[in-house]
Amino acid sequence: MDSYPWWTDEHKAFYKEVHAFVEELMPRDAESRWKREFPWDIFEKISEKGYTGAGVPEEYGGMGLGATGACIAAEAFNRMPGPGRVFVGNMLGGLRQIIEFGTEEQKKRFLPRIAKGEIGAIVITEPFAGTDAAAMEMTARRDGDVYLLNGKKRYIVSAGVADRYMVYARTSGDPEDRKRYRHLTAFVVEKGAPGFTVEKMNEIIGFENVQNGVLDFEDVPVPADQVLGKEGDGWSVMTAGLNFERSLICAQTAGWMGELLRNTVPFAQRRVQFGRPTISFVNNQFKIADLVSRVKISRLLTYYTAYLWDLGWDITLESNVAKVYNCEGAVTSSLDAIQVMGGDGLTPFYPLAALMSVSKVENIAGGTMEACRMVIQRTAMKQMAEEFKMPRRVIHEELGVPVPAPGKPGTCDSADPENLLKVLAEDYRVNPGLHMSREDLKDIFSVEDEALDRTLCALEEEGLVKICRDKKGIALAKATYDGLRRAFPADHYRWFPSWVGERRPF
Ligand SMILES: Cc1cc2nc3c(=O)[nH]c(=O)nc-3n(C[C@H](O)[C@H](O)[C@H](O)COP(=O)(O)OP(=O)(O)OC[C@H]3O[C@@H](n4cnc5c(N)ncnc54)[C@H](O)[C@@H]3O)c2cc1C
Repeated sequence: MDSYPWWTDEHKAFYKEVHAFVEELMPRDAESRWKREFPWDIFEKISEKGYTGAGVPEEYGGMGLGATGACIAAEAFNRMPGPGRVFVGNMLGGLRQIIEFGTEEQKKRFLPRIAKGEIGAIVITEPFAGTDAAAMEMTARRDGDVYLLNGKKRYIVSAGVADRYMVYARTSGDPEDRKRYRHLTAFVVEKGAPGFTVEKMNEIIGFENVQNGVLDFEDVPVPADQVLGKEGDGWSVMTAGLNFERSLICAQTAGWMGELLRNTVPFAQRRVQFGRPTISFVNNQFKIADLVSRVKISRLLTYYTAYLWDLGWDITLESNVAKVYNCEGAVTSSLDAIQVMGGDGLTPFYPLAALMSVSKVENIAGGTMEACRMVIQRTAMKQMAEEFKMPRRVIHEELGVPVPAPGKPGTCDSADPENLLKVLAEDYRVNPGLHMSREDLKDIFSVEDEALDRTLCALEEEGLVKICRDKKGIALAKATYDGLRRAFPADHYRWFPSWVGERRPF
């Protein structure tokens, strides 16, 4: 079992305790999968132990083990993929949202219930709104002390078995609100609310013993004191939970990857072909090495991300990177593990096929790999902007070729047309196919934006500069061929390596 230097003694003890607990329950989990029944008894046992309170603060009846504790529990519970998924769904179904956006009264009302094992669900997706969650159609209309919810939600884990549903609905049709993501509101809806029903159960791979369904809301009255945050805060409430959710999903996949190894290695040690255990074949050894590497990296990513969350850091980038690595890694690992086990890997008498199914599900649920990659790219553009600065290069005096030039260029107080054109033309020598960005130019010319723009536009009018504009105005510029000729004589741009010799072409 792995543990990490930053874990407290409590985390370490909890890791051992919860894995031992899960091992006791695994036979019952397997039975419930074959019988296709929801394992209520497993959840009763989890409730008795209070493990769903791992991430709930102590003052609200939880264990106070933070995101790290919640991930430890999620990894262990996911050795039983069905109950593990419900556990994670429960953590997502309101825990972070209530902690971050709930009033003190709401925290006192809902958090102890989560800690005691009440099952919760996260309710965002609709038949016509998947990745584009902001386009959801479900409405909530204020009517006195209640909001009336109308619409449908689909793919909801724990539909029907959950007591508490973290539901998002549209409270404004104003296009301005939609543009500013102020059109949604978050509600805690309780099982039994009039007009709130399960429309359908979905048959989904990997969901043999747990529910996934479509929910129908017809004028469902939800008391105004069950709004989380304020009206219009829904998008913020939803996104506040997403990073925590992605860390938990990472823990989930780490649990599956651990289970793949626990089954594959002993199998290959005991399966004999050509008179030798199949683990002695180098192709199987390499696959096992890859399984070990992936489980190690996935746990490290999971627990490092949870640690940063517990420290209060923004983990948008880390949690999405981890989700993509872990979820895709889990699919690859399950396919590798099946290959090592041969035909036995494909039967439900071993858990590998089930682990392959749940791994693929996680490439879609909780944010598709594409959605996570979009977040990674956008976040990195902001957070890593310093690393993405154009490396400065200049022409080496003797060699005549571009070489790195650390530090800042000398600055110029006036962006007069001649100087500006020369800078753009010199950049053609260093980066022949590139434009210069506004920032590149502002590193050299310490002038106001307007002055820079005026000169660039004047050069553009003369046909000496070509400009690329975006929504904010001038983004990129380069010297045209006429501009290059105007800036320097043709010889300035010529360069030939020494091996060409004296007999240069043309
Ligand atoms: C088993 C399971 C459990 C789930 N549990 C829950 C739950 O408990 N609660 C809940 O609210 N939701 C749940 N979901 C819903 C899940 O979050 C969505 O399925 C997911 O967000 C993708 O939506 P979609 O399936 O409608 O796919 P679509 O949005 O239709 O996407 C289809 C494909 O197009 C790609 N795509 C979409 N938009 C873009 C874009 N702009 N650029 C590039 N590619 C794009 C997607 O990445 C995907 O590959 C669950 C889903 C599954 C399958």
